[in-house]
Amino acid sequence: MKIDDLPIRDELRGQSPYGAPQLDVPVQLNTNENPYPLPEPLVARIAERVAEAARHLNRYPDRDAVELREGLAAYLSRTTGFAVTREQVWAANGSNEVLQQLLQTFGGPGRSALGFEPSYSMHALISRGTGTTWISGPRREDFTVDLDAALVALREHRPDVVFVCSPNNPTGTAVAADTVLALYDAAQAVKPTMVIVDEAYVEFSHRASLLPMLEGRPHLVVTRTMSKAFGAAGLRLGYLAADPAVVDAVQLVRLPYHLSAVTQATALACLEHTDTLLGYVERLKSERDRLVAALRDLGLEVTDSDANFIQFGRFADTHAVWQAILDRGVLVRDNGVPGRLRVTAGTPAENDAFLEAVATVIKEL
Ligand code: PMP
Repeated sequence: MKIDDLPIRDELRGQSPYGAPQLDVPVQLNTNENPYPLPEPLVARIAERVAEAARHLNRYPDRDAVELREGLAAYLSRTTGFAVTREQVWAANGSNEVLQQLLQTFGGPGRSALGFEPSYSMHALISRGTGTTWISGPRREDFTVDLDAALVALREHRPDVVFVCSPNNPTGTAVAADTVLALYDAAQAVKPTMVIVDEAYVEFSHRASLLPMLEGRPHLVVTRTMSKAFGAAGLRLGYLAADPAVVDAVQLVRLPYHLSAVTQATALACLEHTDTLLGYVERLKSERDRLVAALRDLGLEVTDSDANFIQFGRFADTHAVWQAILDRGVLVRDNGVPGRLRVTAGTPAENDAFLEAVATVIKEL
């Protein structure tokens, strides 16, 4: 039996699940993970905190994750200079779950979401999964958001939700604050519209977070994750900051006790080690900049990057180049952007291996 033989919802027919190949090769630079394992003192602290949580696992966890939201609010306030309170923060299992809760709340059947593609494919997939009509908006040739074209799309489609991914996956481009403000104002002029700024990679950006724009904008939501800058993709902890009413609203759709006591304890331990983890982010930022320069030196076309990954090309046969790099033991990502591949910044040794592989491969083209 095949999926389509089942009585599945029409909008799921013919769709593919999200999935990057998880191949066992020496250098894995394909999923925008942080290459640095958590430092040993943090691992020990997680063990301690989880042991404490384990003593109470007969009980449900704190349904409102109060202590964790307090810690996340403190992290955001400290790193952006914009004071955020616990009432403005909500957390879930990865920012994907946060996005799903937002779409369950503000999207759904008869409603639509607009994003500017190429972008993070889960925005479209979660929209479909929640019965929200997906509208693919354009980008310019250089992958920046074309404000004029975006405004036309807004007026034409009147979406209920607008996604702005900054820095954008898979291109690495950040969106200027002015552009987001103009989009927000234009969207509200059509009808009340939730604007979701996905800042999964913002700690790696040359630009500041858009978080301070929450002031006076009740329909703006900023989403974040501990998967990238905190190096804790395996933890599954994402969060949002928005008006407290948005936090109240997503509680209408969240499952009871969705965030386990083990997850909450682990995330709190990670927050205690923020400074060490942000030190790794600094290393990755300089490695990212080194990779951009080195790929340009090789004569490749490289999109400016504000993330921990880089889009490079152009290749006539993208798949063949992806395969040739893989044959040299380095896994990068083909996101389906014509002529382009994406590489995540790894450790200096991993990046050297990648650059060596690319140099060899392009010589043979
Ligand atoms: N947003 C963007 C732009 C991403 O690239 C990712 C992960 N690849 C996510 C959100 C989701 O991350 P997580 O669920 O691990 O927080």
